[in-house]
Amino acid sequence: MSYLIDHVAARHDSTIVLMALVICIVAALSIFTQLQRAFECVIGRRRFWLASAAITAGAGVWSTHFISMIAYRSADRLQFDQSLTALSALIAAGAFALAFALLRRSGGIVVASLCGAIATGGIVGMHLTGMAAIRHPAVVATDIRPVAVAASLGWLALSAAFALFVRGRGSRRIYLPAAGMVLTTIFLHFVAMSAAVIDHGHGTARGGNDTAWLLYWVVGASFLLVAGTAAASVLDRFLTDLRGLADATSEGLLITGDDRILEANERACALLGVSRGEVIWTSVACWFETADAAGLSPGESLRTRITGSTIEDQLVELTARTIEYRGRAATVIALRDLTETGRAERAIAHLASHDTLTGLANRAACDGALAAAVRSGVPFGMMAIDLDRFRAVNDLFGHGAGDAILIRVARILEQAIGAQDMVARIGGDEFVVLQRQIGSLDDTRRLAAHVAASLAAEMDSARDPTAIGCSLGVVTFPRDGTDPETLRHNASVALTRAKEDGRGRASFFDAVMDRDARERQSLEHDLRHAICRDQLRLVYQPLVATATGDVVGYEALLRWTHPARGAVSPALFIPVAEEAGTIGAIGEWVLRQACREAALWPSQLSLAVNVSPVQLRLPSLPELVRAVLDDNGFDPARLELEITETALLRDRETSLAILREIRALGVRIAMDDFGTGYSSLSNLRHFPFDKIKIDRSFVSAMHEDEAALSIVRAVAGLGKGLKLPVVAEGVETEQQRRMVQAEGCLLAQGYLFGRPGAVLPARRIAKQRA
Ligand code: C2E
Ligand code: CA
Ligand code: CA
Repeated sequence: MSYLIDHVAARHDSTIVLMALVICIVAALSIFTQLQRAFECVIGRRRFWLASAAITAGAGVWSTHFISMIAYRSADRLQFDQSLTALSALIAAGAFALAFALLRRSGGIVVASLCGAIATGGIVGMHLTGMAAIRHPAVVATDIRPVAVAASLGWLALSAAFALFVRGRGSRRIYLPAAGMVLTTIFLHFVAMSAAVIDHGHGTARGGNDTAWLLYWVVGASFLLVAGTAAASVLDRFLTDLRGLADATSEGLLITGDDRILEANERACALLGVSRGEVIWTSVACWFETADAAGLSPGESLRTRITGSTIEDQLVELTARTIEYRGRAATVIALRDLTETGRAERAIAHLASHDTLTGLANRAACDGALAAAVRSGVPFGMMAIDLDRFRAVNDLFGHGAGDAILIRVARILEQAIGAQDMVARIGGDEFVVLQRQIGSLDDTRRLAAHVAASLAAEMDSARDPTAIGCSLGVVTFPRDGTDPETLRHNASVALTRAKEDGRGRASFFDAVMDRDARERQSLEHDLRHAICRDQLRLVYQPLVATATGDVVGYEALLRWTHPARGAVSPALFIPVAEEAGTIGAIGEWVLRQACREAALWPSQLSLAVNVSPVQLRLPSLPELVRAVLDDNGFDPARLELEITETALLRDRETSLAILREIRALGVRIAMDDFGTGYSSLSNLRHFPFDKIKIDRSFVSAMHEDEAALSIVRAVAGLGKGLKLPVVAEGVETEQQRRMVQAEGCLLAQGYLFGRPGAVLPARRIAKQRA
């Protein structure tokens, strides 16, 4: 050993030896740092770090050897074989690569000593090859015995180094194995050098500065390589671990500066529904629905939705903090997903305001809505609804059946009311309907009738033993009370009366309304039987050519003679029939009766029949028209159906489709009462009407009212433009006849030419001819 020290001290340049030592130490530290990284990483990255560590080891050991050799005093003109020199480096790197690949955390002492043997072999192999690469001065021989002893010691030291690395904890895992590696490398080198017999006389040296130049090169390159890998492993550890930490949180994190997003963690990207690349460098404002999100100051938090999110009800809470990022102040915005919290809050709110069985609003929600409606001051209607026989059904069929009925009633009520209205279940079998924003009291009367009719239609007690009826108590605001308490009380008074009266009907708190409603109900009831009791008949009013007074056809008008009430005007009973749903049967009767009679008339006379808007929504109407024409052998070209504009207000497309079908049969369609409704040109454009009838209110006023005259003139002009004949209705005087003729109305109708007659036209015409 003392010989060795003498050898190193005497024959070597100590500064260069120190350089070699420094590189060796840095390399050793780097190798074990990288190995540690490799052991912590996922498989893909582990291979990278193992390879990098092997290259560092190869380069480190080789450059230690190379620089130490240059430090040899008599090597001032060293020359090398380049291929063998490169091979020596590869041997070292290859041996370390194999050793590192075999190294296992669970391997124990056996694997550590195997790896130690391979690595030692690599160092010795590198050394011998490196020595063989020296061209000048020539290496004559190497005494192999000290090298073998040194290799055995090196093996022990490296095995211990690997074992310490595999078993160790903390920084000791790095420093102790690194020390083993440094000792082995240096020791092996100098033992081998001292064992070499060198002949300074052989060969010739070329060039003088090779050594210095090489020295700087090798030292520089090795140091860069070794230090670079060492730094990379530390940096990677720092960065990936930091990002891993940021990604591990359940909060989304956005680091922002000058309203730009500088960094985003995985959770933030997932919440925004995009990749990291799409977030970086964008503006904060474009990701959130609330504009304030961009200007959030530290400590502040905000609830907002994410712009364009596909998640229903997505809600996030943003909290801002200030940090130092990349050397300057930045804001971290933490995103907390409140979607579930928001849903839960809404679910709780829903539970608090809704009835769990039917899903309708509960009593509390109903009281709130009633108070709000009263506060708003806008007229509204309210119905208290109570189910008849509910307790009996509950007792007889059990609570399951009772619940099923309540749910059914809830669904029927929901269907019956308008979109703005509200239905609530306020107790066992008690419901309330709030009809918001009524135009007139008639709206409420109509809705009450509709609700009662809907329940009656769905609950057929003749077939379903669990079917039940209901009673309604109706009030309107402000007529029947100006505060919630009075309204509730009066509604229950009306409800009690409805129940006493015999069940299944609506009772109004207001006496006049109640009388009207009863009146209507009885009318409805009587009208249902009018056809079979033979109380209906048709009268015909002539349609004439304005210029000559010649009759060109007749309009059929319905009359109802009530046994007690006498003649009831169609203006009164047609709307009742429409509301009660009897218009379908009545309309069919009118059409059949009119066609049967008109078939007896001279063939040049046309027949006009009025069709209700309700009939126009029945898809069976075209088929009915066709059947009636067939049954009576009536020419479709003689039939004209009169419809009003209201027919095209609801279900416009359905109504137009039905009209087209009827027209395809050859039947003509006239627009009745033009000028009273919406008088929309689009109606005339969307459907090819065959005739326009100007309402009689304009004709009767035209001689004294300029506005009425202009309307008659405008409609007549419109007819001319569209090439449609225009009929003036309600012509009662010769003056009116002249005026409508002057305006260009080719046809006219009115008392001047004939009242709707009880006399059958067939007979009248026959009389005229006779
Ligand atoms: P409308 O279709 O406009 O029928 C014309 C109405 O004007 C008829 O009233 C007729 O008697 C009346 N009228 C005709 N000429 C004159 C006149 O010179 N002066 C005055 N003051 N009135 C005249 P009516 O028969 O009471 O019918 C009223 C409405 O009832 C009809 O208006 C029509 O909309 C409807 N209507 C009548 N019959 C039927 C029917 O069979 N089915 C349907 N759906 N509605 C019908
Ligand atoms: Ca008519
Ligand atoms: Ca009319």
